[in-house]
Amino acid sequence: MRWTAAQRAEAQDHIDALAARHKVEVIYGESPAESFPQYQVVHVRTPTTPSRYLEAMHELGHAIDKEALGWWRREGNEAELRMESAAWVWAALNADPALMGEATSRDWSYAASCWLSYFRCHAEDTPRG
Ligand SMILES: [Zn+2]
Repeated sequence: MRWTAAQRAEAQDHIDALAARHKVEVIYGESPAESFPQYQVVHVRTPTTPSRYLEAMHELGHAIDKEALGWWRREGNEAELRMESAAWVWAALNADPALMGEATSRDWSYAASCWLSYFRCHAEDTPRG
């Protein structure tokens, strides 16, 4: 589902307020979302839908959440998987419930598929036998 202009503004205000509180710079654009914790910068897509809002919250989680940052400083498959998980947990815990109230199972599936893509790629990297 797409949000109304008022919901989009509310979602963006929430992202901006969290970023300001934690001194993270948010750059909005249409390129794939990404975070650069070493620079306290995140690139996110404009939150026009609940799934984009969750995605932006996830990128913020990479730059703000202590657990995600702790795993980011470590190397290896386990660290990457735990870092991704921590950033999604942070997103789910910190997303505005009023905004997420209208999220559909499709929006949640989007977040789950992003997380699962890491899980799957690590499972495929694991030597068998
Ligand atoms: Zn991530």
